[in-house]
Amino acid sequence: MRQERVRQESFVQHETAIVDGVDISGQWNKMYEPREITGYDLTWMDKLTAIDGAGSMGWCYQCAKCTGACPVDHVGDYGPRKIFRRLQTGGDLFNSPDLWQCTTCMNCLRVCPKQVDLIKIMPAAREVAVLDGYFPAELQEMFQKVAQYGNPMGDSARKRTRWTRGLEEGIEVRILPKDPAPVEVLWFVGDYYGYHGRGRDAARSMARVFNRLGVDFGILGADEKCDGDSQRLAGETGLFTELAEHNIEQLYKYEFERVVVSGPHAYNAIKNEYPKLGGQFETLHYTQFLAQQLDRLQPLLKGSFKKKVTFHDPCYLGRHNGEYDAPRQLIEALPDVEFIELYRCKQQGYCCGGGGGGMWLDGFMADHVEERLSENRVREAIEVGAQVLAVCCPYEVSRFEDAVKSTGNEGKLEVLDIIEMLDTCMT
Ligand code: SF4
Ligand code: SF4
Repeated sequence: MRQERVRQESFVQHETAIVDGVDISGQWNKMYEPREITGYDLTWMDKLTAIDGAGSMGWCYQCAKCTGACPVDHVGDYGPRKIFRRLQTGGDLFNSPDLWQCTTCMNCLRVCPKQVDLIKIMPAAREVAVLDGYFPAELQEMFQKVAQYGNPMGDSARKRTRWTRGLEEGIEVRILPKDPAPVEVLWFVGDYYGYHGRGRDAARSMARVFNRLGVDFGILGADEKCDGDSQRLAGETGLFTELAEHNIEQLYKYEFERVVVSGPHAYNAIKNEYPKLGGQFETLHYTQFLAQQLDRLQPLLKGSFKKKVTFHDPCYLGRHNGEYDAPRQLIEALPDVEFIELYRCKQQGYCCGGGGGGMWLDGFMADHVEERLSENRVREAIEVGAQVLAVCCPYEVSRFEDAVKSTGNEGKLEVLDIIEMLDTCMT
């Protein structure tokens, strides 16, 4: 049925109107009154913006600056502008896949003139959803494993130091609960270095590099638990607090000068989140620690690394914590290396898809994106002509190695942790 167009009859008109000296009396000053053009239910928008930390979602004025910045939108249909629009037209974020696609990469906040802060909005909104029991099954499994075993793999704490078994004679790793004398560096090894096959390769490389450099270091061994950053970003605030309090207690048992971490998420958690719970520690990502020792490290790099290498900036080392130089300094210190930047690098770096709980949401994301973010990144590395994609986040080796296979680039691109590259050149 054809609908009759309804004429807007409600207007204001002044008999006499002089504006800036111009007489616009008569029909010229007719102004239609503000009229309601939508009747959307804003219950969900109001519920979201009332949550502590999520209020800035309501500040969006739809400028679309975030549209080109969001890595998920690049392979799907997403971004703060779209989330706001869906909420503004009556949508419910709490029951929507939109709640789980954000990797908290921070690229939108970097460009948003209204400071719509997804880094605070997402964990706050997800916390409500988690408490209400609405979250993807993949996350539930991960939360349970972390709660029960202290790591997302669901492996026993005893196995946390098993990676040390593959070390050559003379490479020492002091396990502090067994030998608690003061150390200069407490190395927070992390779950992927502790349990994942490729992570363990990197852990052994770190132990070798530390030994050759003469670093006085120790680890927490079986007393270390997951740093909790990803759980916090995925909305499990209670679990994060439990993990953080445990690690803080363990760390305070020993005397050391600084914590050196393997991964950007542990870095973010210990540096920025643990202080809120009473844990104050000088914290360095391993690339920062080693870059500070470059004078001593460089003479030890004797082997050639004659390859074209590119580097993926981890969101939580780069955009979140402002460190772009240290990893590049280490790569460029490799003898004969040819370093090439990715098109999207440093502040504008593309996300691997593993942040904000994304590490455990690949199955869920497959229904919402055309290709994985890690696949998109691998294609970019191939396009710039790299032979090696260098990383310094323990999540990324496995993510990118999978993506190399799924994009059909096996044999064309190697994925290596920077610590493995340094180790290779020291032998
Ligand atoms: S950049 Fe900020 S204000 Fe602009 S559309 Fe995105 S969220 Fe909204
Ligand atoms: S934080 Fe990153 S993934 Fe999340 S909406 Fe912003 S740009 Fe997209």
